[in-house]
Amino acid sequence: MRIVLLGAPGSGKGTQAKLLVEKYRIPHVSTGDLLRAALAAGTPLGLQAKAAMDAGQLVSDEIVLGIIRERLRHNDAKKGFILDGFPRNIIQAQALDGMLHNLNQPLDAALLLDVDFDALMQRLTGRRTCENCGASYNIYTNPPRLDDQCDRCGAPLHHRADDNEETIGNRLRVYDAQTKPLIDFYRNQGRLESINAVGEVEMIFKRLLTVLEPIARGVRKPKLSPPPAKPARGKPAAQAVAPVKGKSLPVKPAKIAGKSPRKPIPRVPPKKTLPKKAATARTASKKSAVKSQSRTKSAKSPAKKTGGRR
Ligand code: AMP
Repeated sequence: MRIVLLGAPGSGKGTQAKLLVEKYRIPHVSTGDLLRAALAAGTPLGLQAKAAMDAGQLVSDEIVLGIIRERLRHNDAKKGFILDGFPRNIIQAQALDGMLHNLNQPLDAALLLDVDFDALMQRLTGRRTCENCGASYNIYTNPPRLDDQCDRCGAPLHHRADDNEETIGNRLRVYDAQTKPLIDFYRNQGRLESINAVGEVEMIFKRLLTVLEPIARGVRKPKLSPPPAKPARGKPAAQAVAPVKGKSLPVKPAKIAGKSPRKPIPRVPPKKTLPKKAATARTASKKSAVKSQSRTKSAKSPAKKTGGRR
């Protein structure tokens, strides 16, 4: 099964991915984890990615696509995978479609983990992970028995460097601006499945399975799977989103798909204004028409003869 996990930072993609790995025995491919590992190993690629990661911005598509291309070549990915944190923008999604199209292995589903803004903030600021065994905790909702110590293996717990308020603000902004459009991208492909991701981890996992089981059994297929779109020409996708200064978090709560679909913005009919030059010409012609009408009543529609462009 080939799955993309979509959702804002803190929506629980990593936690659910771990459970999905156990259930379906397919690898969890997290670009965030791969980048952090490259950084920890001090590779040139990791060092290149560091600045963007520290600032909560996206690492360049070139680096990320290289990592993914390489990872999907591994044998364990032949029977499927769970992509977490990738794709993060339309360019990456189109590139992924291209890769999978060439392998004749289209995506089965894009699962959106739907969480409201307040819950996201609590999850992100309270998140702690064990670097030794990978167990995750949250100091607010799922605290370890002993402060900063893993219940499972006793190793010290780690607070991710980019889980501070300023970087979180940037990551959520980047999500809104660049990753959220993927919801429509996959909806248009008939692959989007939206899951309410607020509540107990096990409950959310059950909801995921309700959607995934029919797909795993081959009972349900994506409604349509068009050939991959060619990458957009012209302007490359903006990587940087203005960073948040100071401690406040001017991040608008994202309207989450599935709960309250965004109302279409009403179209205001365009005012019938003319460009300045044309408008002046028209006024002039109207004036001259009035003049000529008053001079000779027999003149036939002078405005049309002398009128400016419409
Ligand atoms: P994550 O663990 O998925 O929250 O990712 C942590 C950081 O790694 C992000 O804030 C980005 O800087 C970078 N990153 C992870 N995945 C991607 C991606 N697909 N494209 C660009 N940057 C990424």
